[in-house]
Amino acid sequence: MKNKLTLALDKEGFTLSDTQIDKFVIFSRLLKEWNKKMNLTAIEGDEEIIYKHFLDSLLCLKTGYFRPGQKVIDVGTGAGFPGIPLKILLDDQIELTLFDSLQKRINFLQLVVDELELANVHCVHGRAEDFGKITHYREQFDLVLARAVARLPILLELCLPFCKVGGFFLAMKGPEGSKELEESNYALQQLGGNLKKVDKFFLNDNKYERLIINVEKTGKTPDKFPRKAGIPQKRPLISLEK
Ligand code: SAM
Repeated sequence: MKNKLTLALDKEGFTLSDTQIDKFVIFSRLLKEWNKKMNLTAIEGDEEIIYKHFLDSLLCLKTGYFRPGQKVIDVGTGAGFPGIPLKILLDDQIELTLFDSLQKRINFLQLVVDELELANVHCVHGRAEDFGKITHYREQFDLVLARAVARLPILLELCLPFCKVGGFFLAMKGPEGSKELEESNYALQQLGGNLKKVDKFFLNDNKYERLIINVEKTGKTPDKFPRKAGIPQKRPLISLEK
């Protein structure tokens, strides 16, 4: 794992210390070990873990929005993606909240955070629809990240309430992101978001195409959002008007 990982990181333009590479190796061991006991990820082979989890997560850094001292939340982090790889690289430069609605995954993440000795990380169990209304979380984060949680119009309602005005939400998508973006004008307008840019990346000799949709929070999210748990998914903010 260590050799393959070092080569892949180098190929994709990331330079890491030995300690950081060791942390990725320990993380992949824990992922494989705990995946036998609970459903963490469908991705298990070394190459897939390296590209589809680790390097994919690190692509966020190429958007250019990360700054020292930022508060970052990873919504629907699952087994820790993109949050954990970013924290391994950025170390104490960011304060990170790993947020998920499944308690078992949060327990796993706390174990990973302890084993990797990652400081300034909060593992929080809850639903975005509930926590997006709590003062301590609402409009408190400089950067909000999410990968593989919901289609964009739904995801915007789950994520934008966490974002400070002037902050950014990065939605990590595959090529399907373009289509989802076409359906998202109404949600953006309702929630105080503005599309800033879409970054397209290719990983592993163009095997994987990835999109990161960069949304700036330009205005406060009205108090009525997010709606109650389950409603954003049942009635996404998609205008019926053409
Ligand atoms: N982001 C990870 C990744 O890319 O590997 C996990 C993706 S997994 C398909 C989606 C995760 O989002 C699950 O762990 C699920 O529990 C969480 N999730 C779904 N809806 C959520 C909600 N409303 N609030 C918080 N977490 C949610």
